[in-house]
Amino acid sequence: MVIVVEFHCLVHEYVDHFPQLDFPRPEVCPHCHAVNVFIGHGFYLRKALSQTQVYLVRIKRWYCKACHQTLSLLPSLLLRFRHYTGTCGYASAGVSST
Ligand SMILES: [Zn+2]
Repeated sequence: MVIVVEFHCLVHEYVDHFPQLDFPRPEVCPHCHAVNVFIGHGFYLRKALSQTQVYLVRIKRWYCKACHQTLSLLPSLLLRFRHYTGTCGYASAGVSST
């Protein structure tokens, strides 16, 4: 599952400062409704295309210890970019395959 999060920064700031960003940890799992069960689960990469540049953007993931599902935090700034994944070719902004 993906939730969209506002980080109040530009894409290059998000990329450059990813390790220092404060990622909100959901209190309730949207899959199983357990409370306080999320632990960090790394990240995956997504490409974001601007008119002139390609950014490799890390997408933070949480893991539910109760139901073993993951939850990804998609930065809202990606909604302004065209992006694609390695398997799907071009996709319109805001549409996720995960
Ligand atoms: Zn869960």
